[in-house]
Amino acid sequence: MNAGITSSITTDMTPGADLISFLDESPSPWHAVASTVRRLDGFVELDEREPWPSIPDAGLVVREGAVIAWRLPANPDAAAGFRIVGAHTDSPCLRVKPNPDSSTVGWKQLAVEVYGGILNNTWLDRDLGVAGRLVSSDGSTRLVDVRRPVARVPQLAVHLDREVNSGGLRLDPQQHLAPVWGVGGATRGEFARWIGAEADLDESPSWWELCLYDVQGAAVLGADSSLLASGRLDNLASCWAATTALVAAEPTDQVAVLVFNDHEEVGSASTTGAQGPFLEAVLDRLVRGLGGDRDALLRALASSACVSADNAHAVHPNYVDRHEPDHRPIVNAGPAIKINANQRYATSAETASMFQQACERAGVPWQVFVSRNNMPCGSTIGPITSTRLGISTVDVGVPQLSMHSARELCGADDPGHLAAALTAFLT
Ligand code: ZN
Repeated sequence: MNAGITSSITTDMTPGADLISFLDESPSPWHAVASTVRRLDGFVELDEREPWPSIPDAGLVVREGAVIAWRLPANPDAAAGFRIVGAHTDSPCLRVKPNPDSSTVGWKQLAVEVYGGILNNTWLDRDLGVAGRLVSSDGSTRLVDVRRPVARVPQLAVHLDREVNSGGLRLDPQQHLAPVWGVGGATRGEFARWIGAEADLDESPSWWELCLYDVQGAAVLGADSSLLASGRLDNLASCWAATTALVAAEPTDQVAVLVFNDHEEVGSASTTGAQGPFLEAVLDRLVRGLGGDRDALLRALASSACVSADNAHAVHPNYVDRHEPDHRPIVNAGPAIKINANQRYATSAETASMFQQACERAGVPWQVFVSRNNMPCGSTIGPITSTRLGISTVDVGVPQLSMHSARELCGADDPGHLAAALTAFLT
C-alpha cells in the first residue's frame, strides 16, 4: 500500500484491509447493506412500518438493498437541512433465473439473466460463486453467500473460433453466457435444493434474487502496490468511503446522512432506487421527529447539499483518445468532480466549489472529468436525487479502469482520498 493520506480530520483512511473486507463481504446489494450496517456500530435501526417517537442521535433504516443512516448535530434544528452522501449498492452481473436447471450435451447449466450493463467478455473463464437472498414458503428472507467456485462461463477455444483475435469476440447474451455448473442431466428443482442446503434451510427456497460473482477476492496490485483490483468497485468503493466518513464525521449544524440506493445500474426506478420515495420519506420523518412541519421540511431541503459518489472513468493508457484532453482523471490523484453541461451530472459551479473546499479542508487532491463531445456521457443517482428533492448536488467519483468488468481496477489511495473529503463535507 502506498503511503496513506494524512488529513487534519482523520488519522488513517487508507483503504487497506477494511476496504478489501468490505468488497469481499458484499457480493450482492443485500450483502452490501449488511456490510454497511455492521460498520455503523452503535447506530439505532428504525423500522419504517413503526412510529418514530424520537430520532436517535445515530440511526439507520434498511429497505431491502438500500440503506439510509444519519447522525444528528449536538443541537439539531428541524429546518437546518441535511448534508447527504449518496451512492449505490448494485453492480452489473449475471443473475440466476427462477427455473435455472438445464442440461446440454452432458453439461449441467444454469439459466441466467443479465443485470445491468456488464462487459460480456469479462465473465468468461472465471470461477463464479453465488450470493443474494432467498425467500422461503413462509415469506422469511435469508442472505446466502456461496464463496467457492461453483460455476463458469467457458469461452470457446481459439481453434474453434479462428477469427476471434482479428474479428473481435461477439457474444449473444442468451446463447453464450449460460454457465456450466456440473456434468450430467438436469432435474427440475436441483438448483433450488442445492442453494437451500447451502443456506441451511429445511426446504428449497420458493424465490430468490441471486448474483453470480467472481470468487477471486479484492487485491492490492502493482509492484508498487499502487492499485486495487476487485469486482464491484463501482460502486462499493464509494459505499465504503461514505460509511467510513459518516462514522468519522462530527456534524456541526446540519444532519449528516448517507443514502445507498439499489438499482442504479438499471435506471433507479424502483422502491429502493433513487427515483423511488425512500430518501424523501426518511428526510420528512427526520424533520417531523425533530419537531418540524411541512414548512420546516421545505426549508431544510432548500438548505441541504448532496455529494453523489459514483466511480469515474480514469484515462486508459491504451485508449488515451477516448478522453477529453484537459479533463481526464488519473488514478491516485483524488476524486474526480464530474461535470456535464447537459445535466447528465448534477454538478453546478457552486456545488463543485463546495466539494473542492471539502477536499482542501481534508488535505486531499481533486480533479475534474468532462466527457468528449463525441462520446455519450453516463449518468448516476446525483441528477435523480437533485431533480426529485431539489437538493443542490455535486457528482464525484473515484477514477477507475474497466468499469462494469467482472473485475475492475482503481488507485489504492483514491477510496481513502474520497473518505477524507466526504468526512470534511459531513462535518
Ligand atoms: Zn456506478
